Formats: sequence, structure tokens, C-alpha cells
Amino acid sequence: MNKVQVVSYVQESLPEAIEKLKKYLSFPTVSAQHKAIPETVDYVAHMIHEVGGETQVLDDLGGNPVIYACFAAGTEGDASKTLLYYNHYDVQPPEPFNEWNTEPFDPTVIDGKLYARGAADNKGDLVARLTAIQILQQKKGGLPCNIKFLIEGEEEIGSPNLEPYLRKYKELFAADACIWEFGGKDEAEHISMVAGIKGMAYLELTCVGADIDMHSSVGAYVDNAAWRLVQALASMKNQQNEILVEGFFDGIEEPTEDEKKVVSELPFSEEATAQLYGLKRPLITEAKGVDPREAMVFHPTMTICGLDSGYTGEGAKTVLPKNAKAKVDCRLVPGQDPQHILKCIENHLAKHGFTDISVTMINGQKAYRSDFHHPFVAHVLDSARDIYDKEPVLAPNAAGTGPMFIFGEELKLPVVSTGVGWVGCKVHAPNESIRLKDFEDGIAHMVVMLSGFANALSAQEKEIEA
Ligand SMILES: [Zn+2]
Repeated sequence: MNKVQVVSYVQESLPEAIEKLKKYLSFPTVSAQHKAIPETVDYVAHMIHEVGGETQVLDDLGGNPVIYACFAAGTEGDASKTLLYYNHYDVQPPEPFNEWNTEPFDPTVIDGKLYARGAADNKGDLVARLTAIQILQQKKGGLPCNIKFLIEGEEEIGSPNLEPYLRKYKELFAADACIWEFGGKDEAEHISMVAGIKGMAYLELTCVGADIDMHSSVGAYVDNAAWRLVQALASMKNQQNEILVEGFFDGIEEPTEDEKKVVSELPFSEEATAQLYGLKRPLITEAKGVDPREAMVFHPTMTICGLDSGYTGEGAKTVLPKNAKAKVDCRLVPGQDPQHILKCIENHLAKHGFTDISVTMINGQKAYRSDFHHPFVAHVLDSARDIYDKEPVLAPNAAGTGPMFIFGEELKLPVVSTGVGWVGCKVHAPNESIRLKDFEDGIAHMVVMLSGFANALSAQEKEIEA
């Protein structure tokens, strides 16, 4: 199929695909609130059966079911090659409701954009992929390779049960390469993809100073949990934004020269970033003399996500709080281990005299970076060039986090993430949307990528044999 044919097939399929997506988006599948899980699982299985796939709903290891789907290569396809897609059917809570201009679970199209919770993260991507498969099924000779899906229902709560499923069912999910859940157009309308992801150590620090809140006059002689906590936090990162916890940087894998080069060329506008967020301070990379792109991809972070203690309401209340709590997230890079980070922070607090502060890890995930030289990585990029008007962008890893490491560890495959989102799609926020043109382009990209997938991998094997 040439580009003109692909585009015309996609346009023909579009009305039905949009209806399917709207129906899928009408399920309020909020994993954090245990909503609509069985109905959504049924509907996902139904969508897969409709385009000729088989499913197994795996639920023997706890948590929300993991859906396995499989489509066999057609008579003219290469059954020795398998592509795996990773998606999730759960969504973030829609709150605050009053900030939505439309109902979050009543999908609405306005000016070429489809608004609904989950449109971009991650229901639109699944329907785009299934539509690409449907288009290829209609072709003489059928699908060009085997295609599998792993669709989980707990991504938005940190995938707490995914690892045991992947370990137990790794034969079932075995594949040659994986397309991850998300991606989209950046500020300059380039499709932005990644071949890896950062990890995470999400920590809660708690200081308990007393059993009850006290009149603040006792501050003359009673120690203060809030001061203790902020002093402990201040000992972990200095005013130059350098992380001071001993051992925090242990094991970090140095990026290759190629990866560094790609990152130095990523699009990034300091001005646009400052404007987007209404920043009141210069970027922290400026004082460090570091390129923000490099920091975004290659450097770990330590961020205070929230602080809670005492009275923060209107007016004055003179109180000495009994306790203080902080949520801290550390985005990790390949080679760092969340368990080791936790140990290092515990040691740091003990060494600096903060034995009254306890640390618990709420969520830990390792980072993952695919082999940048794998032919699959080049193939996803090349097929994007065929469809998208502007030069695609592919970073070695995202600045965000997901359960990619266990896929790499259990299935030993390269992973590239791409999708139908856009810079203004507002994932996790009110008025989430996708643009229908991006949805259309995403389907076309997957048609082209799947068509050449087996060949791209075999070409490399032949080269090695020769
Ligand atoms: Zn999400």
C-alpha cells in the first residue's frame, strides 16, 4: 500500500472508528475508584473479537484483569514475527467536575477535537491500533505479522499487579518488539516518540512530634515536627538544586554518544515553557549550566510533591502541629534502583540526626531504555516519516514513568512509544481531548509500521548471517 492508499483506507474507516471510541470512552473506568471495570473489560474483548482477534482475560493473580489479545499473521504474512502492543483501559479520576466544559464520560466532538476522560490517555490509542489492524485484515493475504496486546487496568494507579502477570505469562506475551501506550504531537507539530522511560521512587516522609496538636506558646520549649521535616528535606537538596543524598547516583548508566546527540537536538523552547506554566523563576538548569533537554532525559530528579502539617486555612490559628508529612517523588534513570534510593534516603536521615522521620515507598519502578540501534527503533521512525508531514522526533527515554522495565526484563525486546495525543491534550486534567486529525494520522502510521515490521526485522537478521 502506498501513502495515498493508506490515507484513503483510513478515511473510509474513520466514522466507524470514532463511534467505537466514543462508546469505549463512555465507560467511567476509574481504577482509583474501582469503577466500571467488568463492563470495560467486556467491551474491550468485544472490540478485539470484532476485528478478528482472540482474547484471554487474566485475573488469577489479583488486581483488575489483564487482557491478552492475539491476531495471527495472514496467509501472505510472516508468522515468525510478532509485535506486541501495550495499552491500559483504566483512566484517571475526572475530578474536579466543575472545570469540565463537557461531561467527562459523554464524549463530545467540538471543532475537530474529541473531549472525554481517557481520550488521549489511553483509550484513543487502543482504538487507533485496532482500526489499523482492521484495515490490514481487509487486504488480500491478511495481516503482515502476528500481533499481540497486553491491556491492563491499573496503569493509572501505578500498575501494582502487572509484574506477576508478566512473569507468569511471559510465554503468552512473547514478541519481537513492543509499541508502548502513548505519544503525540509537540508544540511545533512534530510527532514525538520515545524508546524508553524514566523510573520512579515515590516516597512519603513523616515526622511525628507529639500525640496531639498543641498551643503554639509551648514552642518555647517543645520541638516542632514541621520544622524538623523541612530541615530534613533541606538537607537532601541544596539551593543550587543539587541532590545531596549519598549513593543516590549509584549505578547510573552513561548515555551513549548517539543518545546524547539525539537529545541535544530535541525541540525545546525555554520561553514557551516559561509561558506555558507562568514560571516565576528561571529554569534550574540555567544556574547549573546544563541543557534542559539533557536534564529531562538523562538526569534523575527529586521533587517535593506536597507538604502537609498544622493549620493552612484562612486567617490565623496559633498551633504547634503534632506531625508533618511530605510526598517526594524521584524520577530515576537507567541503572538506578528504587529500593536502593529508599535505603540511601533512610541512611541520609539517620546520619543527619533525623531518626524521628520515617520514610515509606508508595511506588517504585526502574527506568528502561531500548537499544537505540535496534532495527525496530529505526523502522518506527522511518514509517512515521512516511505519514507525518514534519520530521518525527524520537528521544532515548521519556521524562515520565511507566512499567516498561518489567517488559524489557521479562520479554527482552525493544520498546518504542507513539500515539495519537497532542501538546494540549490535558491528560489527567479536566477537558482531556484528542484531535481527530491526529487520531487519523496515528492509524495511518500503524498501518505503515505493521506492513513493514517483519521485513525490517528480517533484513537485519540476514545482514548478521551474511
Ligand atoms: Zn495516565
